[in-house]
Amino acid sequence: MTTRKHPRDPEELEASIALYEGKIAELESAVAEAKDGGCTVCHVRMRPQMFNEVRRNEAVVQCENCQRILYYVPAPASQSQAS
Ligand SMILES: [Zn+2]
Repeated sequence: MTTRKHPRDPEELEASIALYEGKIAELESAVAEAKDGGCTVCHVRMRPQMFNEVRRNEAVVQCENCQRILYYVPAPASQSQAS
């Protein structure tokens, strides 16, 4: 039976957490929300076809200007039901 040693050193643990946080920050700066037919980071309008692709999540689309990966947040469904 082999015993695997896990790094239990708090400093080592903190270092890996910092590394992950850095990666998350890196990822966050690598994406941009696509809204109203344009990129919300650099405010450059994209081609309608591109915007549709982002909206349908059919492909990974990058902003032509800032090269960020675009994602689309669907607008909350408007409550048209009258109760
Ligand atoms: Zn952009």
